[in-house]
Amino acid sequence: IKPIHVVGGGLAGSEAAWQIASAGVPVILHEMRGVRGTDAHKTDGLAELVCSNSFRSDDAETNAVGLLHAEMRLAGSLIMASGDAHQVPAGGALAVDRDGFSDAVTREVEAHPLISVVREEISGLPPESWDLAIIATGPLTAPSLAEAIRAETGADALAFFDAIAPIVHFDTIDMQKAWFQSRYDKVGPGGTGKDYINCPMSKAEYEAFIAALIAGDKTEFKQWEGTPYFDGCLPIEIMAERGPETLRHGPMKPVGLTNEHDPETKPYAVVQLRQDNALGTLYNMVGFQTKLKYGEQGRIFRMIPGLENAEFARLGGLHRNTYINSPVLLDGSLQLKSRPGLRFAGQITGCEGYVESAAIGLLAGRFAAAERLGNAPSLPPATTAFGALLNHITGGHLVSDDEPGKRSFQPMNVNFGLFPPLDPGTKLKPEGFEGRFRGKDKALARKRATTRRALADCRKWLGHEASAQAAE
Ligand code: FAD
Repeated sequence: IKPIHVVGGGLAGSEAAWQIASAGVPVILHEMRGVRGTDAHKTDGLAELVCSNSFRSDDAETNAVGLLHAEMRLAGSLIMASGDAHQVPAGGALAVDRDGFSDAVTREVEAHPLISVVREEISGLPPESWDLAIIATGPLTAPSLAEAIRAETGADALAFFDAIAPIVHFDTIDMQKAWFQSRYDKVGPGGTGKDYINCPMSKAEYEAFIAALIAGDKTEFKQWEGTPYFDGCLPIEIMAERGPETLRHGPMKPVGLTNEHDPETKPYAVVQLRQDNALGTLYNMVGFQTKLKYGEQGRIFRMIPGLENAEFARLGGLHRNTYINSPVLLDGSLQLKSRPGLRFAGQITGCEGYVESAAIGLLAGRFAAAERLGNAPSLPPATTAFGALLNHITGGHLVSDDEPGKRSFQPMNVNFGLFPPLDPGTKLKPEGFEGRFRGKDKALARKRATTRRALADCRKWLGHEASAQAAE
């Protein structure tokens, strides 16, 4: 059988190689460390954890990343098996001994008879002779390869650093204060004229908010010190520092909007949120990219009327991150539409985090192996954490009505906002539950029902895959 080439031996590439080899297909894994380093990696080990040693919550019942752990274990993940074998105490989280973990992955991959590891930098797109290949070179992809990807996909399709605006769970926005309306009721293609959520501010509220932004604790940003900000992604606190009126004339301008709860009073400023996923469960804060520390973001953004109880699916940030505009460029099985057979995996596809990167590597590996064996890739159901994350990457993204072509795709951790809603008839109240079934109990029960559904569907999906292979 002809080998599949995997470029990058990080979290995603190591897992992809493992899955391909586990399906009985040979793999050549190209990893540049050993020949050339990155700004963050410190060793030559495969699957090195560049920062924290945590895979986050291991709670598969009420936490989305814990659920992803569980699904990956079911799918025979090398990253999860190595993580479990090198666990260190961390409460409900799965934290690992980083060296023991990376050594284990390196050992297993190098020892697999179907995997060859080649230490070399791949400096351009894989040659045509590699008919099936996976690029998993991560957020710190070497510059010459990044340049080749940019040349293939177009200048607007590759981002080099992230200026991320926070994303809010819709059901935590107070719609008694906020309202739906597009500026000037403008109706874009497929739009309704009510595509944004608007949060109004009085003069006093705006002034207090600007003062809090300026005084708020910011993260250091040494790595890219001196990098000019692109105009479209200036951090909000930098805009605030330019003068008290800057935001009111920028992302917080109140024009073309009427507060339906109080049509007589013109808001002094407005914060807009734009739908972020096709399900309408997540909204991003338009123009609110920020370097504020996480705790400060929660405190300061909850000063905004309507967001007092907001829960954030992700907070804002600014860091080096090479990633492609996957919803536009990739098909449902992670293949580059312009070059079938070439897949992307890991953080470069626009997922975020060790576990998510490895999960997308796992899927890309299985899809490529299926193709090599003459089968159609079997996609995970949307109700699983695998499927929810894959759909975040490969589809379901909205481009705003009034800013055609503007990317709305932002890297994200797995979270419950990415899952389809439960069937309306789903029984939430546990058997024998005493007392009042309150909002908090309901939210927890909803998570439990979502994870139960996910694990059942994941088992079915993996079972189908196994029986399809057996039938071959
Ligand atoms: P990587 O693990 O980076 O693997 C990519 C591999 O490709 C590397 O081994 C690299 O050497 C290799 N490579 C690159 N270019 C080439 C080339 N041209 N030829 C051959 N090989 C190449 N996530 C968390 O969950 N927790 C954190 O604490 C965390 N901290 C982070 C800190 C930093 C500084 C960065 C940049 C990211 C962080 N992330 C964190 C995000 C992300 O989850 C990790 O970067 C994760 O390692 C991504 O997995 P990956 O497999 O996509 O990329």
